[in-house]
Amino acid sequence: MINKLLIANRGEIACRVIRTAKKMGIKTVAIYSDIDRDSKFVSMADQAYRVGPAPSLQSYLNSQKIIEIAHDSNCSAIHPGFGFLSENADFADECTTNKIIFVGPPTDAIRKMGSKSESKIIMTNAKVPVVPGYHGENQDKDYLFEQARSIGFPVLIKAVLGGGGKGMRIVTKESEFFEALESAKRESLKAFKDDRVLIEKYIQKPRHIEVQVFGDHHGNYVHLFERDCSIQRRHQKVIEEAPSNINWDLRNSIGSSAVDAAKAVGYYNAGTVEFIFDLISNQYYFMEMNTRLQVEHPISEMITGEDFVEWQLRVAQGEKLPKTQDQLKIRGHSIEARIYSEDPYNNFLPGNGNLEFFREPKEEPGVIRLESGVREGDDISIFYDPMIAKLVVWGKDRSAAIGTLNKALNDYKVVGLPTNLRFLRTCSQHPDFLKGEYDTGFIEKHKKDLLQQVTKIENQYIMSAVVSKISQNLKNTKLHSTLQNFRLNHHKSENFILKASAAFINTELKYEVNVEYPGNGLMNITIKNPSKHTVIKRFENVAYTLTTESQINITSSENTVNTDFLIRGEDCVVFNEFGDALHFTFENNLVENRSSTSNDTQDPNIIKAPMPCTLVKVNVKQGDKVSAGQPIVILEAMKMEHVIKAKKDGVVKAVKFRDGEFVQAGKLIVELE
Ligand code: ADP
Ligand code: ADP
Ligand code: MG
Repeated sequence: MINKLLIANRGEIACRVIRTAKKMGIKTVAIYSDIDRDSKFVSMADQAYRVGPAPSLQSYLNSQKIIEIAHDSNCSAIHPGFGFLSENADFADECTTNKIIFVGPPTDAIRKMGSKSESKIIMTNAKVPVVPGYHGENQDKDYLFEQARSIGFPVLIKAVLGGGGKGMRIVTKESEFFEALESAKRESLKAFKDDRVLIEKYIQKPRHIEVQVFGDHHGNYVHLFERDCSIQRRHQKVIEEAPSNINWDLRNSIGSSAVDAAKAVGYYNAGTVEFIFDLISNQYYFMEMNTRLQVEHPISEMITGEDFVEWQLRVAQGEKLPKTQDQLKIRGHSIEARIYSEDPYNNFLPGNGNLEFFREPKEEPGVIRLESGVREGDDISIFYDPMIAKLVVWGKDRSAAIGTLNKALNDYKVVGLPTNLRFLRTCSQHPDFLKGEYDTGFIEKHKKDLLQQVTKIENQYIMSAVVSKISQNLKNTKLHSTLQNFRLNHHKSENFILKASAAFINTELKYEVNVEYPGNGLMNITIKNPSKHTVIKRFENVAYTLTTESQINITSSENTVNTDFLIRGEDCVVFNEFGDALHFTFENNLVENRSSTSNDTQDPNIIKAPMPCTLVKVNVKQGDKVSAGQPIVILEAMKMEHVIKAKKDGVVKAVKFRDGEFVQAGKLIVELE
């Protein structure tokens, strides 16, 4: 029996596991790194122990220390979550040696499935179809090139120990092979301490379909149907849905292939068998097996009505699987959207920062489920995964689920760091997504539509920003009501110069706003173009009421609108009807002028570190001629490589850092002229 459980993870999955443990009457112990001390998951656990400093190697990957804490706190089991030690067979072994139950599969199965090469050989023997390719030991680059040629381009190079889309490169033609190989090896060495690769036929129009499986210690196996995870960027999932759009014949067949895969390695506990489904030939092929609970497991829970963490804990303490295959049914449709801190407009570069303002949709049991590990005020740090939350919705059919997804996405309001919220919304409203017609190339194919930026914003929001600002200026003075009366009842006017910006606005928007107080307690607000002094829009008889700390109701002769806003120092953030944050900077304020920093991010001559990173390679030296689009620096952050390209033609004026150096966010790396 498990009576006390240590969760060797952090963030949302730690919260998720603790929730079920509580329900089952199991006591929980959290471990935290220094920067996680005040996290939500720490406050949810019955007990919490410090595991080490922020870097995961010294904290969430410090297996020895984790086992020590499990002993000290009398835990009989460890749940590894996903990521970190969840697929680390040595750790699972250490648990067993120390008489602690590892809530997961047998170590032998982790080892076999941890290698994308070995698992493919085992699957071939078990008659599970695998992607054609080279999975052998020979890593000689000319030999690999010959293999790629005989498979036929395009091919995909993958890290043998890969995961999370890292160390993967598509090679469309022979001439690109060696560079891609080098870069894939470099990335996998960093992420997995191993640079072996395999080569696969690159399937051109595939769907990613994966099957949830479970086994117990008594030789029982079931699958809990499949998920479609084809909406991906950087080979990483962003939107997943269950069930996938396949017929029951195919569902039964892919389900039993997945169970065959699990049986072939004597599997027990939760696992996911990933297949690539070729839409052209209607064939599915085994890709890999993930020997853990998966990020997107909630959508399968929603359609089956089962709690997989509960299943995991029951299996781990020796019980039989709670249900047989016949007892499992699909009910309705579920979708998950992963909300990340990242910049979709800059190649999905991971972001970080403080969640200064964080509003979520309302949970509705069985319909809207929020899986998040953060609260307002928390940091999304560069040390861990940049995922902020998962939104999981359920509907009686796919279109009902999409409707709920869109409604709930609109209810998120985030300030402090970049997010992919607007991008998720445009994805989930795209006609092809609505029709269910997509493959793994969806994002790439529709990039232009999905990442469309705008060049103007509605006048309503400019007015709302100014009125919010006025309301706050007045609120901050002690003589609030007297002053307000004075201002509104005496003839007077004031001028504001403000700039609007948002991730999806690709130009500088500057406005002059004149506010008149004609003496009747109301305002007349005129928005003007500051350079031409032409009137863009005039609102008359404007009045406002603060409905909450961060919501203002504004009426004018033409309409009445509720707007959420946030005052950030001298700036004001206004949320549009979709929850997008519009930032307004007031230029004629007495406080410091912030425009200088925002200016040089626009300057195409300046190449700066977009986040704390390590320089992998600077491709240029002083005096080199470069042309627009040319890759200038390769940097590595969060274990991934990012390429920064020149925005314009030019000559390199200065290179400030060398290969291998650590660079802080915002530091100049290369300057052009
Ligand atoms: P999937 O489970 O969908 O195959 P991934 O491979 O993206 O997805 O999930 C595993 C990844 O989850 C890890 O590589 C790691 O980056 C990330 N991860 C690990 N721990 C957490 C956590 N607590 N919260 C969010 N993400 C995490
Ligand atoms: P990881 O361990 O990083 O999750 P996978 O092998 O599961 O790596 O592949 C991740 C994604 O890359 C898949 O979901 C799919 O979109 C794409 N992919 C993988 N193999 C192929 C292939 N042979 N052809 C086309 N796309 C592929
Ligand atoms: Mg995978």
